[in-house]
Amino acid sequence: MIKVKDKTFKVLIGSFEIEQRVKDIAAAINKEYENKNPLFLGVLNGAFLFLADLFKHITIPCEIGFIRVASYRGLQSDGNIKNIIGLAEDLAGRHIIVVEDIVDTGVTATYLFEEIEKQQPSSLRMATLLFKPAALKKPIHPDYVGFKIEPAFVIGYGLDYDGQGRNLNDIYVLNET
Ligand code: 5GP
Repeated sequence: MIKVKDKTFKVLIGSFEIEQRVKDIAAAINKEYENKNPLFLGVLNGAFLFLADLFKHITIPCEIGFIRVASYRGLQSDGNIKNIIGLAEDLAGRHIIVVEDIVDTGVTATYLFEEIEKQQPSSLRMATLLFKPAALKKPIHPDYVGFKIEPAFVIGYGLDYDGQGRNLNDIYVLNET
């Protein structure tokens, strides 16, 4: 059990298990993307550790970039308007693998896919460390999934609670009791 700010968390997935899954995903990508020079697009901040570890096990020619999804309240009354920061404009004809920390409702992933598709990449897939299928609100199917988890709040291995906890090596879940 650990405490981060005002909340307590317990271990959900240990670092050894994470390491093994990351290696499995890298092995699948090495096989499927040989001779395709894939471009990994990591979604900051949460995916930075997952992508760094994944990237170390990629043995085929490849490239890497980072993007960030900003949400802000727009002038319209219908809520959050998002935009992508750092998205390159030369994605046409490329094989893109978007790397996320977690897919929860799928809203972020759907938005990212729509924006990237506009540039007509040759292929577009998603790798996510964590996936909460029960929380999904969009018809999205991540292609590479580290772990499917229950829809509870998690931190560690890149994921934060109010800015903290990203440096934890294991993944922790909020202790509700
Ligand atoms: P979605 O758009 O799929 O609902 O949410 C995606 C983003 O919400 C993730 O990239 C992450 O930043 C945040 N998020 C969703 N669930 C969790 C969670 O359990 N823990 C943390 N730390 N962030 C989460």
